[in-house]
Amino acid sequence: MFSHLKAAPADPILGLMATYREDPRDFKVDLGVGVYRDESGATPIMAAVKKAEAARLAEDVTKTYLGMAGDPQFNARIDALTLGDHPARRDGRVFTAHTPGGTGALRVAADLLHRARPEATVWMSDPTWGNHPSVFKAAGMKIAEYPYYDGKAQSLRADAMLDALSKVPAGDVVLLHASCHNPSGVDIPAELWPKIAELAEKQGFMPLVDMAYQGFADGLDQDALGPRLLAERLPEMLLCSSCSKNFALYRERIGAISLIGESSAATQTASSVMLAVIRNIYSMPPAHGAAIVARILGDEALKVEWLTELEHMRNRINGIRQQASAQLAAAGVNGDFSFIARQRGMFSFLGISPEQVTRLREEHAVYLVSSSRVNIAGLNEDNLPRFVAAMKAVLG
Ligand code: PMP
Repeated sequence: MFSHLKAAPADPILGLMATYREDPRDFKVDLGVGVYRDESGATPIMAAVKKAEAARLAEDVTKTYLGMAGDPQFNARIDALTLGDHPARRDGRVFTAHTPGGTGALRVAADLLHRARPEATVWMSDPTWGNHPSVFKAAGMKIAEYPYYDGKAQSLRADAMLDALSKVPAGDVVLLHASCHNPSGVDIPAELWPKIAELAEKQGFMPLVDMAYQGFADGLDQDALGPRLLAERLPEMLLCSSCSKNFALYRERIGAISLIGESSAATQTASSVMLAVIRNIYSMPPAHGAAIVARILGDEALKVEWLTELEHMRNRINGIRQQASAQLAAAGVNGDFSFIARQRGMFSFLGISPEQVTRLREEHAVYLVSSSRVNIAGLNEDNLPRFVAAMKAVLG
C-alpha cells in the first residue's frame, strides 16, 4: 500500500524551525514561523483566554456532541465580530459554522465550492499563503493567480490586479485577504474594495475572503471593512475567519466559515450542503476553542480585557515595524526599508536574495524563509540591534 510512495516535500518553514532549535548560538533570531511573539519572544496564552478556560473547566457539564455547525453561541458571536451589525445578518442571509481553525474553514469552503460548481476556478493573489493553493487543489478545484504584489516597489499592483479581476469569468471565485496579507504585508486599501465589489457584480464572480488576522492591522472594524462591504454589495460571498492569531488559540484549532446567500431561503439550502460537506470531512468541530471565544465575546469584562490585549499586540507589531524601518535606515543598510513601516500584520518580504538569506542564517543566526519573508513579530528591542547589524554585514 505505502511502499511505492515518494516522500512529500518537507515544509520549508517547519524544516527551518528544526534547524533553528538545534542552533546552539544564544543570540539567534527566529523570523520564520508565523506566530505572534511578545516583547520577550514568547507566544503566551492571553489572560482573557486563561480566565475563560478556568470558568469553562469549573462550569462545563457535558462532553456530548455539538453538531456539524458547532457551537451556536460561538457562531452568533463570531458573526457579530466579523461582520458587525450587518444588513446581511439582519436579513437572515448569513449562515456560520465553527471549524477546526481557519484552515478547516478554507477546506469546507473548497469542498462546498466543488459541490456547487466543480468547473469553477479559484483565483488567488500572486503570491498567497502557501496553504491556499494546496487546500483548494486537494478539494479538486482549479486555481489561477491574479497580480498582487510588486516586489520592486514593495506595494500593491493595484491596476494590474483590477485589470485581471475585470476578466474573471462569471461563476469563478476570487480569494481575497481581508488584512495583513500573508506573505507580503501589503493590503488592499479601503478605496479599492468598492472597485472590487463593482467588478464582482459586473463579471459575476464570487469573493471568498480569508480573514485570519482581524484586529492585527488597524483595528477589528477597520480590518473587516473589505468583507463587510462585499457582503453588503453582492448577493453571495464566503468568509473564512480564524481565532488562531487574534485570540492566540493556535493549537486549539478554532475558526469559522460564514456563507452569505442571495436570500434567507437560498442561504438555508446552501447551508444544508455545507453541513453535509462538514459531516464528510470531520463530522463535527472540536468544542474547546469555540467555548473560550464565545465566553470572552459574551462577557463584558472578559471582552474588554481581550480587546486591550489585542490592541497591545497590534501596537507592538506596528511599533516594531516603525523601529525596524528607522534603525535599518539609521545604520545606512543598503536599500530602502521604509516599506516595513507602511506594511501591516506579521509579514513582509525583505526583498533580498536566497544567498543573502543563507548568509543571515549561517553567519548571523538570523532565521527567515528563502523567499525573504520575515515574521516582524519575531523582532523586539533586545534582538533588533542584532538584526540590523546582521543586515548591515550582509547587505552593506
Ligand atoms: N489564512 C491565512 C492567510 C493564514 O496566514 C493562516 C495562518 N497561517 C490561516 C488562514 C489559517 O490559520 P489556522 O488554520 O491556524 O487558523
